[in-house]
Order: sequence, then structure tokens, then C-alpha cells
Amino acid sequence: MGAYNILKINAKCENCNVLFIDNIQFKFGDTWQNEYLIGEKIKWGRADIGVPGLNKVKVYGVSESDRCPVCRYLIAREYDIIIEKDIIEYITPLTNLEDYNFDEGNYSLL
Ligand SMILES: [Zn+2]
Repeated sequence: MGAYNILKINAKCENCNVLFIDNIQFKFGDTWQNEYLIGEKIKWGRADIGVPGLNKVKVYGVSESDRCPVCRYLIAREYDIIIEKDIIEYITPLTNLEDYNFDEGNYSLL
């Protein structure tokens, strides 16, 4: 496991309804522990993975934890991060792991 970036999302536990910040690791853009929020623009320039300015891609993301920090209920671990023209638009629970070719980066054109 090399370097990665982090997307900070507002998550809500389905069991106890607590709100918490979840860190989603992903590899796209300049991959160097950069931190992002949804709506922000991907940076490029050093340890790049992927191609800048793509129309629409989904990027594989994995949460740093798999349990609610309060009640320890299991939460979604894997996500699709939707990025349009380098803007992080939204995330959804992982739809199909086979869409990703991990030899060529962790993203897939849409
Ligand atoms: Zn909980």
C-alpha cells in the first residue's frame, strides 16, 4: 500500500444515528496524503495517478474504519467516488469492484 489521498465525508450511523467524520482513502490525482472535501478540485503535479481533466470517472475509495466510532455498528467500507472534470461530486457505496483494474490505477471511466 503506497501513498493515497483522503476524502473527508459526513457519515451517519444507521444504528445509533450519530454523525461523524469518515476518512475515505483513494488514489487519484497527486497522490500524497492530500485531504479533500466533496466539491473540491483534485490537485495534480507530483505522484500522479490517472489523467487530469477527465469528463467523468469513478474512483475506488475505502474507509479507514469499518465501524461506528460510538456503537461499533458495521458501516459501509468501500465506495465509488464520482469525479467530474477533477471536481469531487459525490460518493456512493461501491457498486461493482470488477469495474476497477487495480494494475492501472483505482479509477474507471464513466
Ligand atoms: Zn453507531
